[in-house]
Amino acid sequence: MSKKKKNKNVTSIAIKLNAISVRDLFLKFLILNACLMFILIVLWCMDSEKRFFGEVVQNAQRHVDFYPIETATYTVTLDSGKTLVQNASEFLYVLRKIVIILGIIEGIFLLEEIIFGTAKVRKRLKPLNDIAETASRLSNMDFSEERFQSLEDAIAKISPVSTDERIHIGDSELHGLEDAINKLLDRMRDSYRQQARFVSDASHELRTPISVIQGYANMLDRWGKNDKEILDESIAAIKSESENMKNLVEQLLFLARGINGKTQLTRTEFLLNDMIGEVFEESKMIDQNHIYRYINSENISINGDSGLLKQTARILVENAAKYTESGGEIILKVGTNPKGEPYFYIQDNGIGIDNEDIPYIFERFFRADTARVRKNGGTGLGLSIAKWIIDSHKGFFSVLSRKEIGTRITVFLPKVDS
Ligand code: ADP
Repeated sequence: MSKKKKNKNVTSIAIKLNAISVRDLFLKFLILNACLMFILIVLWCMDSEKRFFGEVVQNAQRHVDFYPIETATYTVTLDSGKTLVQNASEFLYVLRKIVIILGIIEGIFLLEEIIFGTAKVRKRLKPLNDIAETASRLSNMDFSEERFQSLEDAIAKISPVSTDERIHIGDSELHGLEDAINKLLDRMRDSYRQQARFVSDASHELRTPISVIQGYANMLDRWGKNDKEILDESIAAIKSESENMKNLVEQLLFLARGINGKTQLTRTEFLLNDMIGEVFEESKMIDQNHIYRYINSENISINGDSGLLKQTARILVENAAKYTESGGEIILKVGTNPKGEPYFYIQDNGIGIDNEDIPYIFERFFRADTARVRKNGGTGLGLSIAKWIIDSHKGFFSVLSRKEIGTRITVFLPKVDS
């Protein structure tokens, strides 16, 4: 395809855009010249008055008679009758020269813009041209029976889930289509892999409580029916493991619904202070092993799903309690950062998180590999749920943590007007 034809799609737009820009430039020059002339004339008049009267006089009658240039004068008459009649023709000749020189320079600029401007605009519009060109090539493409067949064959051969196989039609004109299908396949495989990993991780997590329950049931079956001690121990273990399993299944369901877009946000405007205040009161009541403190601020309105945001705050508080020794302090704070973005944070003086682990704590099923974390036996899903909620609100987290000193996890949310 010739270059001329290639750019045809945007040439008429480029000509129109350039005409507008030349017109704008011309008007700007015109206004600039008028202002310049006015300023020069005013300065010359002031200078004439200063030279004649020693100052720029007030309460005087002024008269400008600039046409014809040969006899042009500037007349100033004072109340006292003293009169200045200044010949202006010499000044006007100089002014005319200035305007002509300026006009020539500006004319050159305008001419350059007229001649080369369209090409410059066309270059800037090249991406548009490319799109138009591709669309027109696709619409003009001749799809013969044979081509359809080879495309169908190529697509039929590949599996969207199994391997990294890609389609290859072997027809240069179908290259764009081939590329698009391969990219789509890559994305489908990625999401399939993610799903598969999720299912395998979930099954793995469910295996432990099921094995424990099975173990106790077997023990009861063999020896425990008449042994009160074994009976009590087994019942307690089965209760606790089934509770863990219930939590895990609930969290998995939440994440699955979130991924499938089935969890919808019910947005309202409410005070962040009230929400965190409620979480503070609840936590104090449920957990008497830690000291809770709430640092409130002026009222901060936010727009969001109050139920889900409260769930996030609860997840953070529960973690703080889980990973902080009895008697430790847990602080809840609300405020706004210098950009005016509302935030709340939960801070503890517990075990802290290893620096290398911080980037992974929001990943599903991630748990730091420490005895304390293993002992507390969370599901590793709390923070991924919190992240899903905060991402859906277009907010973000910031994590500050030091081993054996404590952790502060801050949630930033968008300002109400944004
Ligand atoms: P879990 O149910 O295991 O608590 P989360 O997704 O809530 O799962 O947290 C992931 C991991 O991040 C935890 O297992 C723990 O290692 C670490 N973590 C989260 N919050 C804290 C905290 N306040 N102090 C120390 N470690 C934390």
